[in-house]
Amino acid sequence: MKSKAEVIVIGGGSTGTSIAYHLAKLGVDVVLIEKGYLGSGSTFRCATGIRQQFTDEANIMLQKYNVERWKRLSEELEYDVNFKQTGYLFLATTEEEVEAFKQNIELHNKFGVPTRLITPEEAKEIVPLLNADEFLAGQWNPTDGKANPFKTVFAFAKKARELGAEIYEYTEVTDVIVENKEVRGVKTNRGVIKADVIVNAANAWAPIINEMAGLGKEFIPIKPYKHQLVKTEPLKEGQIEPLVCPPAWNDSYVIQDGEDGGVLCGTGIEHGPTYDMTPTYDFLRGVLKWATRIIPALKYVHILRQWAGFYAKTPDSNPAIGKIHHISGFYIAAGFSGHGFMMAPGVGEAMADLIVKGKTKVPLDWNWYDPHRFERGELRSTAFQIG
Ligand code: FAD
Repeated sequence: MKSKAEVIVIGGGSTGTSIAYHLAKLGVDVVLIEKGYLGSGSTFRCATGIRQQFTDEANIMLQKYNVERWKRLSEELEYDVNFKQTGYLFLATTEEEVEAFKQNIELHNKFGVPTRLITPEEAKEIVPLLNADEFLAGQWNPTDGKANPFKTVFAFAKKARELGAEIYEYTEVTDVIVENKEVRGVKTNRGVIKADVIVNAANAWAPIINEMAGLGKEFIPIKPYKHQLVKTEPLKEGQIEPLVCPPAWNDSYVIQDGEDGGVLCGTGIEHGPTYDMTPTYDFLRGVLKWATRIIPALKYVHILRQWAGFYAKTPDSNPAIGKIHHISGFYIAAGFSGHGFMMAPGVGEAMADLIVKGKTKVPLDWNWYDPHRFERGELRSTAFQIG
């Protein structure tokens, strides 16, 4: 293991591997430290979804940029991350929701995201197995999509290594060394690594890293909430290609895995704050009730797996991204609140640019995601959270 680097990234999920890749691309001597194996935090446990359909300008702009990055990512990383623009379909069950959809669509269209209102019949054409009779309208954006989280993390890590980054798995950061309010390195269970810049990309565990740096766990109040998924046996390709979600049905959603055609089913049952990752029976019962109401044919399909991961939630469900001004050389990109996978390419690029150049062309609103907003008692409007 190296004893010195220019930058240390803590956390080997989609965020940390993307930051490490983008830093290495800029010629930085970077080390990434992951306490388990790459992706083992929440990234490999996510529902694969990538959307631009948020309800505020900052997240829409960032995600519009990110979709452009996702489109080119396989070519750029020279490894297929299986990004597909299969869309996101939200479904309304009341007239009030239809009105809210119309407002969302107006906002999306203002920023060039081609969301539109569709009829239940059109929704059924997009998702042939849909129980369309239960819905009044759909909010449909065909340019949203999905990608393979395993391949994405692997691709970022592979390319980062090719560009000179060192990645240490099964290596746990046990302390952050700070002297005179300046970052000096980290202690790990395998030894000390010195660096003048550290990026906290530990997401659900980010408050523990902040505490090691002397900032206190509540400085950025990220809390780990257990969210779960079940996956069915494979269905024929094209049956449920988009992420389909009637928000009024407890934020439940279904999406066919772009890799093997199994259906991932999620719902808004959450447990926590907790670091326990044990799947629960109440989730299994709850999710199947909603999933089989959205797609009745799922009653006849076997569940193959169930697992849990974390939504690392901030009070406004927006991540904390940027420089921490209390300690020189300390940066954070964490608290993604259930939508960190989709943001990874642009966040990694923006963070690397911030560290190296102090500015970026990524349309990331630093003020919106300001890590210091919580200590000032400021909150942004709550980011829309599904998948
Ligand atoms: P993580 O992947 O959690 O990585 C952080 C890493 O830090 C971990 O691997 C951890 O081991 C490591 N670490 C922690 N402490 C230390 C330490 N002391 N030393 C070294 N390493 C350490 N997002 C989407 O965009 N789309 C979706 O469809 C979606 N669906 C989801 C469905 C579910 C059920 C869940 C649970 C999440 C979902 N998410 C989704 C959220 C998404 O999984 C996360 O936002 C994203 O993976 C965050 O990536 P990350 O790299 O920031 O964090």
